[in-house]
Amino acid sequence: MPIYEYECTKCGKKMEALVFSKADENKLKCFHCGSGELKRIVSMCFSFGGRDISNSGSCGSGGKVGFS
Ligand SMILES: [Zn+2]
Repeated sequence: MPIYEYECTKCGKKMEALVFSKADENKLKCFHCGSGELKRIVSMCFSFGGRDISNSGSCGSGGKVGFS
C-alpha cells in the first residue's frame, strides 16, 4: 500500500496518507488544519532542507511511525 508520511508546513504536524497517484497527493489536505501545503517526508533518518527530522522519534523504532 502506498502510504506516505507528510508534514504540514502550516501547523507542522505530521500525518500519513494513502496516495496512489500524483493527483491524489495534490488533493491531500492536512488532517489537523486543512492546509494543502504538505511536504512528503522520506522515512529515513537524515535531514533535508536544513531541517532536522531525525528527532521525530520515528528513527529506529522498528518501522512503526509514532504519531501523537
Ligand atoms: Zn496543518
